[in-house]
Amino acid sequence: MKQKVIILGSTGSIGQNTLQVLAQHADAFDVVGLGAGTRWKALATQARYWKPQCVALANGAHAELAGAAPAGCRVITGPDALTRLVEETPCDCVVSAIVGAAGLPATLRAVELGRKVAIANKEALVVAGSVLMPLARRTGATILPIDSEHSAVFQALQAGRREDVERIVLTASGGPFRTATPAELARVTPADALQHPTWDMGPKITIDSATMMNKALEIIEARWLFDMPHDRIDVVIHPESIVHSLVEYRDGSVIAQLGTPDMRTPIQYALTYPQRLPCPAERLCLHTLGKMTFFAPDAERFPALRIGHAVAQRGGTLGAVLNAANEEANKLFRSGAIAFTDIAALTEEVLDQHDCIAEPDLPALLAADGWARQRLAQCAARITEHAARSR
Ligand code: NDP
Ligand code: MG
Repeated sequence: MKQKVIILGSTGSIGQNTLQVLAQHADAFDVVGLGAGTRWKALATQARYWKPQCVALANGAHAELAGAAPAGCRVITGPDALTRLVEETPCDCVVSAIVGAAGLPATLRAVELGRKVAIANKEALVVAGSVLMPLARRTGATILPIDSEHSAVFQALQAGRREDVERIVLTASGGPFRTATPAELARVTPADALQHPTWDMGPKITIDSATMMNKALEIIEARWLFDMPHDRIDVVIHPESIVHSLVEYRDGSVIAQLGTPDMRTPIQYALTYPQRLPCPAERLCLHTLGKMTFFAPDAERFPALRIGHAVAQRGGTLGAVLNAANEEANKLFRSGAIAFTDIAALTEEVLDQHDCIAEPDLPALLAADGWARQRLAQCAARITEHAARSR
């Protein structure tokens, strides 16, 4: 029996890598649904090749997509299109690969329906891990990580008993500005920040990697996926991105997962778990690699890690606020409106102004998300107005 797969965010970097994995194992998988945000032409091209039962587009272009989709393929458009795709298309696995909190509603629906969810959309966990994880336990949904660090931890956790785990160590490449001075960081342009040294990813996560906000989000992601307190989640800088993360057990043994930096490996593992199949990713050759390096992160130059730990510790609505403020700041930086170092500074300012609700339900989390976006815009306006006055 083939595994029926829906991909949310199929036109993105993770979505396209997922389709490459599925193409390698066409005998094992059937693509039944594809969903995207606005790029209807790319979605239609994928649909003509994969012939899914249904395609969904969040933002408009119904007539265009319907005209370009293959015969017999259902087309849904509109803000709830991806949630409806999940609801109305029977499947075994949902790949959650939309970027940002926009991925939460459809991911939540997949968990409600008890599906296997291969999750790349870390923002959904950062915003609503407190809702998604207990929900998955109730519905029997399995949430499997795609994020390379969390896939590595998931694999390393299989080496021992949960009660014997002492800590998780997430690796971070350090991004393109690992060695930059504070003055250099203040002058970073969007074009500089969009060049990642080891991973080829979508624009939002590439900027998050440069600010290290990605690692802050990943600390919170790990907190929810592995039910691990924040003070047992550490970060080490590892510029080569070969060791994808580690788990330390109480006897001092450290179990790591290694491989060349290629998202097809963790994507495939989430899809085939507990099986392993051949993968086209380049093989790791330690002889050629020669050496690997590791450094302690610098919390002075990259305040994101401190912010991530504080939010993981206090929980409540803070994850939703951190994520929303960062999403907005990330967008403003990409548009040239604010400086690179403003991203973390403004995000922290919004977090400081938030009255945290300790045990929020979903509506409270969504309200916190909306509040943070508005507040971030207000704080950023101060910077942009000041810049306009001094011109
Ligand atoms: P991309 O920007 O490359 O792709 C994002 C995808 O989401 C696109 O298919 C886009 O559609 C879709 N999308 C955006 N907004 C909406 C919306 N409002 N409704 C529906 N669909 C939407 O991102 P990545 O693939 O890089 O990242 C996806 C997720 O995976 C992120 O959460 C990221 O943190 C995570 N991740 C990514 C890694 C990577 O290597 N890229 C590694 C680890 C995690 P459209 O094309 O139409 O705009
Ligand atoms: Mg990662």
